[in-house]
Amino acid sequence: MRRALAIGLLSALAAVGAAADTYPQRPITMVVPFAAGGPTDVVARIVAEPMSRALGQQVVIENVTGAGGTTGITRASQATPDGYTIMMGHMGTHGAAPALFKGLKYDPAKSFDPVGLAAGTPIVIVAKKGFPAQDLKGFIEVLKARGPAINQAHAGVGSVSHSTGVLFNSLTGAKPTLVVYRGTGPALNDLMADQVDFMTDQIVNVAPQIAGGTIKAYAIATAERSPSLPDVPTTKEAGLPGYEVSAWNAVFAPKGLPADVRAKLVAALDTALKDPATTKRILELGGTVPKEAEAGPVALQALVEREVARWTPVLRSAVETNP
Ligand code: ASP
Repeated sequence: MRRALAIGLLSALAAVGAAADTYPQRPITMVVPFAAGGPTDVVARIVAEPMSRALGQQVVIENVTGAGGTTGITRASQATPDGYTIMMGHMGTHGAAPALFKGLKYDPAKSFDPVGLAAGTPIVIVAKKGFPAQDLKGFIEVLKARGPAINQAHAGVGSVSHSTGVLFNSLTGAKPTLVVYRGTGPALNDLMADQVDFMTDQIVNVAPQIAGGTIKAYAIATAERSPSLPDVPTTKEAGLPGYEVSAWNAVFAPKGLPADVRAKLVAALDTALKDPATTKRILELGGTVPKEAEAGPVALQALVEREVARWTPVLRSAVETNP
């Protein structure tokens, strides 16, 4: 009896080992919780291609939108943790959301096996091309004077554009009308078409349009100017030093991955980010590539915990004054 059990256990272990050894045997789905064409989608597509090469299987993007990114992340967090479903999370879904959703069905720090940071994405304050203000100070004056007549785009409660936008409004006293989109890709289209007035968004979405002059940038919310947008002043230079905020995108898997599968995903992302073509694309769009100490699952877990702790009090009080 004992012998039979032992043999059974051994063959079960062998089966698990074999599955991990041969992973991946079919395409892997990377859930992007926002619309195609936006920053999360762009970063996902930039890293999915070299990750596919490293893994020898296609990493296929699936856009699952809604509720500020929490719909897609909830779904992906509940997938079987076998390495065939991963996701591109960000500062909103894995940092800001717990402050803004009472019934959030995942815990950013506990429901995932972090794979690694993919890109840092500074926040830029952008407006439609014809917005009647020359600089950030003038922009804030117009916002305050026109109140709800100004429309601010965002990608849903808890998203980066929403949380950083609410923070901007609470710091400046602006009270615009908030207009929700399924991602800042579609929001950017409406900004270019003059359908909305402004948003605060991740640089990788807006850098090409700023450079091309189809939208305006009033400031970048980082300590230093971005090499990809050298003419855009920092918020400090432009007179709003309290508004310094940078977002990020990162790859996560549902909690419980077999160790070998996890190691393969971590290695594939690492290889992808060391590919000079990948780095070049991220940098051209104004993003930053994780430094050694920021890369990988341990650093990402620590980042998530820090971000949740940082955003929860800030957003709760900002939302009280600016729902
Ligand atoms: N960056 C956006 C946000 O969270 C969403 C997107 O990636 O489209 O605001």
